[in-house]
Amino acid sequence: MSVLLNEHPWTFVAIALVLGLIVGSFLNVLVWRLPKMLEREWRAQAHEVLGLPAEPDGPTYNLMHPNSCCPHCDHPIRPWENIPLLSYLILRGRCAHCRGAISPRYPFTELACGLISAGVTWHFGFGWEAAAVLVLSWGLLAMSLIDADHQLLPDVLVLPLLWLGLIVNSFGLLTTLADALWGTVIGYMSLWSVFWLFKLVTGKDGMGHGDFKLLALLGAWGGWQLLPMTLLMSSLVGVVVGLIMMRLHKTQASTPMPFGPYLAIAGWIAVLWGGQITDFYLQSVGFR
Ligand SMILES: [Zn+2]
Repeated sequence: MSVLLNEHPWTFVAIALVLGLIVGSFLNVLVWRLPKMLEREWRAQAHEVLGLPAEPDGPTYNLMHPNSCCPHCDHPIRPWENIPLLSYLILRGRCAHCRGAISPRYPFTELACGLISAGVTWHFGFGWEAAAVLVLSWGLLAMSLIDADHQLLPDVLVLPLLWLGLIVNSFGLLTTLADALWGTVIGYMSLWSVFWLFKLVTGKDGMGHGDFKLLALLGAWGGWQLLPMTLLMSSLVGVVVGLIMMRLHKTQASTPMPFGPYLAIAGWIAVLWGGQITDFYLQSVGFR
């Protein structure tokens, strides 16, 4: 099997594409349901802490139950209507029962996840690096979508992926364990310092604590070397997108904007091409 995939890299890329589409379909469920599950949990905890009577337990709600259904007519989605990308195309973006429109975001997420997965396997070739970075990519995609929707980077996703980065690099898969450790520490501390400096000067919260943890996660995967590039790229993209949004939607400069998706995209690029980008930069300024 591994010989086959080594000799025919395109087979591996094609398998990753299909796997990515299927994972993307699951991420749609995760991104929709996880914030609701967390909110339920937080409400219950808050009631307990405040000594309020517990709210009645609603129907079971987790990643598996209830089954997915159409938001317009509650028609349960049958397996053949749930094939990533294909079902959306065959049904022309409408519910099979009531013909209500299905958000194009679902097939878009599936397609993005498929293409990202294919890109990772094409970049690394068959092996453990590809497997590890696939998991990282899926996690980053889920976090970016949740942060964009809710301005929330759930610990339940960020922290396990941070540990996994350190574990992966304990085998020296992407960088040395020492570089990964310092990447985690410096990643967290750098945004933590910016947060407190901003708060002392302006009295406002400039970003969420999830952003420190996300940069720590990226440091755990790619080592401290990728941090400056990640911060620079994410700030640039964030500023450009922010300016466009202000123009298009007439939003105010003070409107809170999630920073997580920019960090995630920049960090992912740095994990894949950080070495080449640094070499190119050093060459072009004449250091090498
Ligand atoms: Zn329907």
